[in-house]
Amino acid sequence: MEFPKEKKIYCKKCKKHTKHKLKEFKSGKGRTLAQGNLRHDKNTNHGYGGKYKFVATVKKQNKTPTFVAECADCKAKVPYSLGKRMKKVKQE
Ligand SMILES: [Zn+2]
Repeated sequence: MEFPKEKKIYCKKCKKHTKHKLKEFKSGKGRTLAQGNLRHDKNTNHGYGGKYKFVATVKKQNKTPTFVAECADCKAKVPYSLGKRMKKVKQE
């Protein structure tokens, strides 16, 4: 599906519709010593192939794309997503 690079979205800070730049969201690196990661490492040696318990290995074919929308006026950033899975994401 094709996505525009700019879109008019409601901005909570400006309290009106303004132009937003859309950029694809990329998650940052996780902390290796975070509590959840330590717990995960502790629990992943039980003989289920590196998982807590048996998990069926059917992978979803498509991803839900998420974008970061940046307000042109106040530069506030908001996550923006259609909430739908799609094969390809193109930005014009
Ligand atoms: Zn704004």
